[in-house]
Amino acid sequence: MDVFGLLGTPVEHSLSPPMHEAAYDELDLDARYVTFEPDRDAAAAAVESAATLGIAGLNVTIPFKQDVLDAVEPDDVAGRVGAVNTIDFSGGTPTGHNTDVAGVKRSFAHHGVALDGRDAVVVGAGGAGRAVAFALADAGAAVHIANRTAERAESLAADVPGATAGGLDTLDRVADAEILVNATSVGMEPDDDDTPVPTAHLHGGLAVLDAVYAPIETRLLREASQAGATTIDGAWMLLFQGVEAFERWTDRDAPVDAMNEALRAHLG
Ligand code: NAP
Repeated sequence: MDVFGLLGTPVEHSLSPPMHEAAYDELDLDARYVTFEPDRDAAAAAVESAATLGIAGLNVTIPFKQDVLDAVEPDDVAGRVGAVNTIDFSGGTPTGHNTDVAGVKRSFAHHGVALDGRDAVVVGAGGAGRAVAFALADAGAAVHIANRTAERAESLAADVPGATAGGLDTLDRVADAEILVNATSVGMEPDDDDTPVPTAHLHGGLAVLDAVYAPIETRLLREASQAGATTIDGAWMLLFQGVEAFERWTDRDAPVDAMNEALRAHLG
């Protein structure tokens, strides 16, 4: 049996186990997906132990995405983003990948939204904002990062090819943009009356991805939809980072529909 798992804390409410186990069931794979919560300073030791125990692959989440960098050989994307969310143990050395980046690109592609040559605004410059900004720039979009703490946006923009940055007062750029991504926690339950982007900036020429997935339909997505925009909820981003990890570990096409169904059933 192949054992895959998730390294993070807390992980008890993670949606990754049901999503991956649905894929194993669908393809009749002899595999299990389990969660691990090592001590805060033990991420690298946990990766070494996983290799020793013959674990086939690990996902990595908060707060360990940077901590495991020293314990793996990061690929180009993970190295540039500076965060690892997927570890593959199939070679001699554990390799580190960032499937959040591919998850963002595949979310737009799945909805028929092209990114190349588009003007994009990313709200947020934390962990999610970093992966989103790299993904959009990688796909050929011109990226502007707006963040409550403008200095944090500027420091992220310095790493992302061609990106510009500013505070939340630069959100008026959404009015001229074609792509908008919320990568802040604004709008998350229980504060789901909040929205990160003033309604007046939304318009029908936008495709809007909200990284927030609880609730599934955030106030931002509701208002964007009312303005005529294409909307993509945060469960798609979560789904496709998992799909990408599954495909990397197993060298098989992921059963996307089964994984999506399991994920959305657990999101309620
Ligand atoms: P993080 O690293 O803590 O970053 C939080 C971001 O939100 C920062 O940019 C922060 O701005 C901003 N922010 C927080 N409160 C704000 C407020 N009241 N007004 C304006 N901006 C505010 O968190 P993260 O890991 O990036 O996660 C952000 C969101 O993305 C969470 O809801 C998370 O669940 C979601 N997420 C979704 C996926 C997915 O697959 N769908 C993946 C990862 C994360 P400052 O820099 O000014 O503090």
